[in-house]
Amino acid sequence: MFPSCHPLLEQHHSPINLDHHMTRNESLEALHLEGFDEIQTGHWTLHNDGHSIVLQVGNGMSVSGGGLPDVYHTIQLHFHWGGLATNGSEHTVDRRRYPMEMHIVNMKSIHPNLTAALDDPTGLAVLGFFIDVVYSDNIHFGHISQKLSSVAYKGQTTKVKPFPMMSLLPKHNMSQYYRYYGSLTTPPCSQVVVWTVYEVPIYISWSQLAQFTSQIFSTEEDAEQVTPLQNNFRHIHPTFRRIVSVSKDAKLLTGTAGRPFRSAASLHLLLIILLGSFISGL
Ligand SMILES: [Zn+2]
Repeated sequence: MFPSCHPLLEQHHSPINLDHHMTRNESLEALHLEGFDEIQTGHWTLHNDGHSIVLQVGNGMSVSGGGLPDVYHTIQLHFHWGGLATNGSEHTVDRRRYPMEMHIVNMKSIHPNLTAALDDPTGLAVLGFFIDVVYSDNIHFGHISQKLSSVAYKGQTTKVKPFPMMSLLPKHNMSQYYRYYGSLTTPPCSQVVVWTVYEVPIYISWSQLAQFTSQIFSTEEDAEQVTPLQNNFRHIHPTFRRIVSVSKDAKLLTGTAGRPFRSAASLHLLLIILLGSFISGL
């Protein structure tokens, strides 16, 4: 339905795989996140649009600096996730997918509306955060996860009390990120996005993850057949000749130290190999 989502050669689409083919840019320091530490007035709105869960945030926040060409107003954040036993981040690190990814969407503030921003090659700045899983709940993430049952079905909307956006983010590692020029990952897939993908993930619990993978539906409440909303990520696109930059402080957590996760299957294989060499040693 969207020809612009079927890229030809040399177009710059998102998401991409992040690997060692990146260029350090010493001028890329932490972005300036205006209003992210404050509790905004009014209320925010959480919505199930059938493709994701979207949190519309008022007008009080903006992002700039860190090599962005302008000031961008924060509009919304939303999520991408996988299935019951599969990961679902959009960007991958050394071909590995994280369980989820959160996108904070910001629009260049000189534009009166999204239509105008989609005509500007750098009209949007999206901040991407990987989400990984641990055993304990993330209480700050609870501001969103506790409201998910109210937006289980497509078309449902609920109010959310504003909270400091920074409380969701890896606040001690905000100067570690990757930068490239790409596209929206949902129709109309416009190639207008300055991407900032953060190196250090947000951590939530298994049960907070499961609320997304098993309790959100892409169908309306009265649909004859309900369909879980799963695997709402776009496939990986080639970088072609694009430069992917690494911020001044990024550690390139793609080696052994910061391996995001190791699958149960590969651990199992490792055990078999270790056990094998132990037995043959006997
Ligand atoms: Zn997204």
